[in-house]
Amino acid sequence: MLRVAVVGSGPSGCYTAQSLVQLDSGVYVDVLDRLPCPYGLVRYGVAPDHEKIKSLQGSLRTVLEHERVRFLGGVRVGGPGGLPVERLRELYHAVVYCVGAATDRRLGIPGEELPGSWSATEFVSWYSAHPDAADAGFLRGVRSAVVIGVGNVAVDVTRMLVRGAAELRPTDIPQAALDTLAASGLGEVHMVGRRGPAQARFTTKELRELGVLPGTEVIVDPGELALDSIDVAALPAAQRRNVEVLRGWAERPPAPADRRIRLRFFLRPVELLASGGRVGGVRLERTVPDGLGGVTGTGRYEDVPAQLVLRSVGYRGVPLEGLPFDASTGTVPHVAGRVVRDGVPSPGEYVAGWIKRGPTGVIGTNRPCAKETVLSLLADAPALARGDVPEDPVAALRATGLDPVSWSGWLSIERAEAALGARLGRSVVKLADWEALLGAARSS
Ligand code: NAP
Repeated sequence: MLRVAVVGSGPSGCYTAQSLVQLDSGVYVDVLDRLPCPYGLVRYGVAPDHEKIKSLQGSLRTVLEHERVRFLGGVRVGGPGGLPVERLRELYHAVVYCVGAATDRRLGIPGEELPGSWSATEFVSWYSAHPDAADAGFLRGVRSAVVIGVGNVAVDVTRMLVRGAAELRPTDIPQAALDTLAASGLGEVHMVGRRGPAQARFTTKELRELGVLPGTEVIVDPGELALDSIDVAALPAAQRRNVEVLRGWAERPPAPADRRIRLRFFLRPVELLASGGRVGGVRLERTVPDGLGGVTGTGRYEDVPAQLVLRSVGYRGVPLEGLPFDASTGTVPHVAGRVVRDGVPSPGEYVAGWIKRGPTGVIGTNRPCAKETVLSLLADAPALARGDVPEDPVAALRATGLDPVSWSGWLSIERAEAALGARLGRSVVKLADWEALLGAARSS
């Protein structure tokens, strides 16, 4: 028998647990999460109106309900007050860290810290009811917003900013976020890419969704598309489709709309401008293609007024105390998923998901990534199984003062969220704070 801890219950953690129990009938897996709720970014990152992607929770649930898998919520590994990595290693034959990329990249430009400038991940956490998210008054007095970056997260936050109450009400968005978005006076969102449409990171399916939002017009400047003299037919299919959609929008005549999304390209942010002690606009420098997929600045600038700036320039992994970390990539050094310490693979320690390969790819990318790690772990299993570990790690965790939220605790949270939804005349509505979540979990 091999006892494995998987740290993190997002897609990479769940796919790791799944591969482990599918590939070896002698493996028992505990999936630990610092939150009382499972599913990681599927619960706290996928936008509430993306119900189809959210429904993936159904298949992740099957993994966590497997007879040889246990969910242990509310267990923080590493950091202040957390279970030290070294202690965790003593409790299991092997540990797989699937902790994702918990923070955001920075722009490194003046004004980035002004009130009203937020990372997209802070905004996403708020509308996803993450218990650590603050209600930061994101939309107070906001008429115009700038979203910096043209990846799928930028598309998500842009779409959520213009969605109306009628579309959000059927989702599980927390009530406070729904009320705020419904009452917002926002009229315009500028989504800005520093390179051209052919280099944009969003996927075409997500891009197209912007074009069918009720009461919202998408505006693309044909002059900006023409800055890049690309041969569209020669582009890889994904980029070609993006450019075709954007060209279609650029050719459309203006239409009346309550809200506008302006998709801008070849503009890089150089400064966030202050107005009355908070952000009032973004200074952008016009760029031109350098012929190699990059851009160069032109020294010509444009100021876009904005009372809200969402910096959506990618996630970044954070170091976990006790584990090696490569600060240049924001990942844990590894060979085929085996953590590398001082240049050599460290038996019994593994990584999967974004902390292994960086914050790229869609949810499904985590499947092969997890499998590679699990194959490494199972190849090491004969040696690992000789390790001396406690009969039941949960008893040992309790002895350190931890009280993990069990699967039945999570099911109680689910029931409380259904009950809250019923009280509000909605379907399921997420609980948005620690007290409510832990109260519901402990009532099981
Ligand atoms: P991303 O795809 O890496 O996009 C980051 C964007 O930020 C790029 O446009 C990048 O431009 C820009 N950027 C980076 N540094 C910048 C700077 N200093 N100034 C201006 N722009 C800058 O990251 P993401 O949108 O956070 O997405 C992360 C991952 O999650 C992706 O794999 C994404 O597909 C996935 N995701 C998927 C979905 C979905 O499937 N529905 C939803 C959300 C997220 P350059 O290209 O020029 O660097």
